[in-house]
Amino acid sequence: MIFRQLFDAVSSTYTYILGCESSREAVVIDSVFEQHQRDTALLRELNLRVKYSLDTHVHADHVTGAWRLKQVYNAPIVLSGEYHAQCVDIAATDGMVLSFGNYALAVRATPGHTNGCVTYVMSDKSMAFTGDCLLIRGAGRTDFQSGDVHTMWQSIRSQIFSLPDHCLIYPGHDYLGRTVSTVAEEKRFNPRIGGDAREEDFVGYMQNLGLPHPKQLAIALPANLQCGQPSDDFTRAQVTWGPVTVTFAGIPELEPDWVARHLEDLYVLDVRSLQEFNGELGHIQGATLIPLDELRARIQEIKTEKPIVTVCQSGKRSAMATQILQSAGFDRVANIPGGLIHWSRLALPALVGGLS
Ligand code: FE
Repeated sequence: MIFRQLFDAVSSTYTYILGCESSREAVVIDSVFEQHQRDTALLRELNLRVKYSLDTHVHADHVTGAWRLKQVYNAPIVLSGEYHAQCVDIAATDGMVLSFGNYALAVRATPGHTNGCVTYVMSDKSMAFTGDCLLIRGAGRTDFQSGDVHTMWQSIRSQIFSLPDHCLIYPGHDYLGRTVSTVAEEKRFNPRIGGDAREEDFVGYMQNLGLPHPKQLAIALPANLQCGQPSDDFTRAQVTWGPVTVTFAGIPELEPDWVARHLEDLYVLDVRSLQEFNGELGHIQGATLIPLDELRARIQEIKTEKPIVTVCQSGKRSAMATQILQSAGFDRVANIPGGLIHWSRLALPALVGGLS
């Protein structure tokens, strides 16, 4: 199985991508709205298609990326029906199985943090995605939304601690950088519910956490009941100057054929040497030459109202150029992946030789 654990530093949320290497079908668990670009870039680079977008619960600390994933992959949104959210396509219920290629996740109802929390368990019980129910050496708070500490105790004991000892625990959050645990470890070492803890111990611990109110609660709750569907304003703001994709490495890119069709509306910045500019690969018509190692010093020479497209031989130096331009305040910037090597393979027009 293809497995990735991703982290949102603002909310300390883990997002999980699970994919089948033969069918390329994938599921995404607990996506974060602001990380949509990162997640879709990785999915694209791993050649995975999202079959289901899963949330373990309605979050209070971040907005889900489920709606945005649905726009890209038409992936049904899976969430417990307990919340009665209209945007949910498949209401997750205890025992439900969701398959993706050769793999499947089973839903276990684990209420307590909220009344609709679920844990997704791999069909071979090798991994469990516990959301905010069982955390590593902790447990999700039970003091707001529809939380209930006694229900939480029951959920962890009967639905999670009943899994095999070797089952890996992947939580919805961790605030100390811990990434994974096991059922055996948590049964022994979880300070709230492990060891010889009895229900009254757990309740006493949980009722005295003294946590502040979640910062994003007022924004996150209503947005998540819409599965993260933003307002019209946001949708309009997404309309950009070109079909830019951002790679998992964070580089904005434009396909060369699109660039070739829109040359008049773009400022093409070539960051190779003069020798390369006039060499065998040639250069793009109208391109301005500033070699990469001079770019920081000469950046004020770039005076344009047009979006900037950067190019070099193979697309590597020009990728760095997009980062330099962005740090200098240019926001409409993109790289041509593969550079002039790729450009010439596609037989797009280039001027060879001549200028100096
Ligand atoms: Fe939560």
